[in-house]
Amino acid sequence: MILKDMNGFDFEKVDKSVAILPVGSIERHGDHLPLGTDSELPEHIARRAADLTGAIVMPTIFYGSCHAMRGFPGTFDIDSEVLFKYIECILEEAWRNGIKLVVVLNGHGGNATPIQMAARQAASRTGLSVVVLDWWKDLGNSKKSLFSSPGHAGEDETSAMLAVDEGKVNIYLAGRHEVTYPEVKIYSKKIDERLYEIALTGDAKKATKEKGEELMSAVVEDLAKVIEDLRKALEI
Ligand SMILES: [Zn+2]
Repeated sequence: MILKDMNGFDFEKVDKSVAILPVGSIERHGDHLPLGTDSELPEHIARRAADLTGAIVMPTIFYGSCHAMRGFPGTFDIDSEVLFKYIECILEEAWRNGIKLVVVLNGHGGNATPIQMAARQAASRTGLSVVVLDWWKDLGNSKKSLFSSPGHAGEDETSAMLAVDEGKVNIYLAGRHEVTYPEVKIYSKKIDERLYEIALTGDAKKATKEKGEELMSAVVEDLAKVIEDLRKALEI
């Protein structure tokens, strides 16, 4: 069920035990991927998983926190504190509307900390349960070996976007910038500038729609399983 498309009569009657909230970004992804890639992918995953589980799909949050790619035209960087408070409000409103569990499906690394803060705060202030998943890290891990050169707008993300909406990818503009990420989480403009010299990491030229379809199917199955397991654990 798609929340924004439901009428009030239907919303009153619908099963509100579980909802999925996709969160993404409007951010430069090399030259070949749409700026909304990080939003389109979790929205697609959420809709497919909802078909399998009966979860409600909440409207996607398209704007995210994008420090690393801020210098590139096409990146809209929302202040982390604003994003944190905004997501916290949405989660608390979900609870007030009768939703018991929200699975926040994040599509963008820079959002991770604000989302975690919002989840902690909303769960402590209300009876809402919240799970936060970074889809590219937490789901579909059985298919990660398909990609020899993953990264931001790299082989895996480009393959996923080809699978989800081929018409939005200009594969002739796909680039390659293979880098080694630091082993520790470091906040550093100097490192970001080196890693994201062309707003792309990995080799997008290796992407294929077929690999993307395999990855997306595994991700959707994993998410459906997480939701079913949580329904049992929370008895909802
Ligand atoms: Zn991305």
